[in-house]
Amino acid sequence: MKVLVINAGSSSLKYQLYDMTDESVLAKGLVERIGMDSSIVTHKPTGGTEVTEVSEILEHTTAIRKVLSLLTDPEHGVIGSVDEIEAVGHRVVHGGEYFGESALVDGDVKTKIRLLFDLAPLHNPASMMGIKAAESNMNVPQVVVFDTAFHQSMPEHAYLYAIPRVLYSKHKVRRYGAHGTSHEFVSKTAAEFLNRPIEDLKIISCHVGNGASVTAVKGGRSIDTSMGMTPLEGLMMGTRSGDLDPAIVPYVMNKEELTVNEVNSMLNKHSGLLAISGISSDMREITDGMQKGDANSKLAFDMYEYRLRKYIGSYAAVMNGVDVITFTAGVGENSVVLRKKVCENLTYLGVELDDELNEIRSGEPRRISTANSKVEVLVIPTNEELVIARDTNRIVQGLMS
Ligand code: ADP
Repeated sequence: MKVLVINAGSSSLKYQLYDMTDESVLAKGLVERIGMDSSIVTHKPTGGTEVTEVSEILEHTTAIRKVLSLLTDPEHGVIGSVDEIEAVGHRVVHGGEYFGESALVDGDVKTKIRLLFDLAPLHNPASMMGIKAAESNMNVPQVVVFDTAFHQSMPEHAYLYAIPRVLYSKHKVRRYGAHGTSHEFVSKTAAEFLNRPIEDLKIISCHVGNGASVTAVKGGRSIDTSMGMTPLEGLMMGTRSGDLDPAIVPYVMNKEELTVNEVNSMLNKHSGLLAISGISSDMREITDGMQKGDANSKLAFDMYEYRLRKYIGSYAAVMNGVDVITFTAGVGENSVVLRKKVCENLTYLGVELDDELNEIRSGEPRRISTANSKVEVLVIPTNEELVIARDTNRIVQGLMS
């Protein structure tokens, strides 16, 4: 079965076409600046040359039409006809309490995604545009895969905030987490890599990139995660503050005469690595700056690392131990220095890093701890699109049988 995976943002649409017979990617690409004066389409057939086009794409339906024409293009295409695509899988950020797993799109599912617009105002409307755009261009089953679904297994004591309970019952204010697709994929892959049943493992999964979160995975289930009602809570990130005293918000709003939108924007877009370094939200530039002796870059790096280590410690505490620590995403997969700094301060847990293994660059799952380490430390490249393609394939195959 060929599955088209779509990740729709408010002005962008990423896609990958999978052949599920061998889980290979036939082509992938990105439509950017949808609705703006000149949209940019980048399409890359596997093994072929990347093509970039500038054209006017005013909404997501036209973007998908463009994608389908590139996928079937005589020169740059990878399939003979759109009919070869048998299913579409969508990434959806927020599944609220409705979705603990992926779902086949129908009227009820669409209604629920709409009901969650309030909780994810930037993301769920965009996902809905992606679903509608695919529907209006193709007549195949569609599946939605939620970033929050894996975390629905969290117990009440982990997902509730210590605020008046009416806010939960009335407005569903609680911890939902994010990056669930990645944490689930990485923890399963870690168990397979170690050849151990996931049911026996206590895993701390660190998804650290521009967005960053840590999850405590016990027996294959998420029991706590650092992101909260929104992806702002938890770790320090590229441009997001992560944890802070909530009293800072009204205080700063008052002192600086900020509106709700302005303070939201400050915490989401102008904080994190960017704010502390004053240089960049990109960990590569921070690391370069630090190595050149820039004090602000060093401070930004130290804070990012320190906060990650604090979460690892607290999740070891909530699980009463840890068997495996995994690193994934842009920083986790690539930053030798971040992994080293985190691990050299976790010796009390029995973590022993193998410096040579840590230096190796690879796109494969790998161990970076020594044979004597009491905790297995692994780097597991994440692949959220593959999870979406697999879930879509499984659900749609189920329909056919
Ligand atoms: P997101 O998906 O949240 O946008 P990614 O997982 O793609 O983020 O991670 C992006 C981050 O990974 C950036 O901060 C980037 O600097 C960092 N990164 C990528 N390569 C390296 C590297 N070699 N060393 C350190 N950081 C890296």
